[in-house]
Amino acid sequence: MLSISNLHAAYGKVEVLHGISLDVPKGKVVTLIGSNGAGKTTTMRAISGMIKAKAGNVTLAGVDVTGLASHKIARAGLAHSPEGRRVFATMSVVDNLLLGAFPRFTRMRPRGDIKQDLERALELFPRLKERQTQLAGTLSGGEQQMLAMARAVMLNPEVILLDEPSMGLAPILVEEVFRIISRLKAEGVTMLLVEQFAAAALNVADYGYVLENGRISVHGPAEKLKNDPAVKAAYLGGG
Ligand code: ATP
Repeated sequence: MLSISNLHAAYGKVEVLHGISLDVPKGKVVTLIGSNGAGKTTTMRAISGMIKAKAGNVTLAGVDVTGLASHKIARAGLAHSPEGRRVFATMSVVDNLLLGAFPRFTRMRPRGDIKQDLERALELFPRLKERQTQLAGTLSGGEQQMLAMARAVMLNPEVILLDEPSMGLAPILVEEVFRIISRLKAEGVTMLLVEQFAAAALNVADYGYVLENGRISVHGPAEKLKNDPAVKAAYLGGG
């Protein structure tokens, strides 16, 4: 569904990704693990067109989207829920969600039933349902994070990129986020997940890649990575 090959990306002259290749098959959850500064967020940005890759290819549902502007990649069916809370502060929760569906108003995406999808998103995120008319800027940090995720769901995309959806959340909300990811997975949504909680990410994922200094060092089925001594020691809190 999403395929990246030999992706290189840089900030100015400093190359951060030195040739990343990974695959996210349809209906699967793939996680990208790595320490701070390894290049996980940069990988997500290069896939979604937020930064321009220096070399390499990104293919989405069989379409080469390499080098396209991010709004065009969204129209092709890629939703990026970025790190940090990027919501439209002066708009209501519902209006933020409807904006998520905006790329569907083009020929490239099936429009489907947006009202029904809004209902589904609100069912999936009960905290947002309770706060439908509230201005997004007045939501708590955790609720804004959920809104960013729910907005990605509203695109009804081929693939969702989730960059640290649990960042800065209280433990109870972290659990809720992982519950929602599991539910989306059960519905067949294809996802690429970056998470600081590597163990939880490997529990929900089918497959994982470990990123070290801008290169993939190990990859394999999530179950296998969870039991890999080197991965355990470096990313899963030892043991
Ligand atoms: P973290 O888990 O800390 O978010 P990460 O694996 O997501 O880390 P990136 O954010 O992709 O890492 O950063 C990779 C490298 O690129 C780091 O050395 C970082 O300092 C650098 N970098 C990230 N964003 C920029 C930027 N806008 N300008 C210059 N350098 C950047």
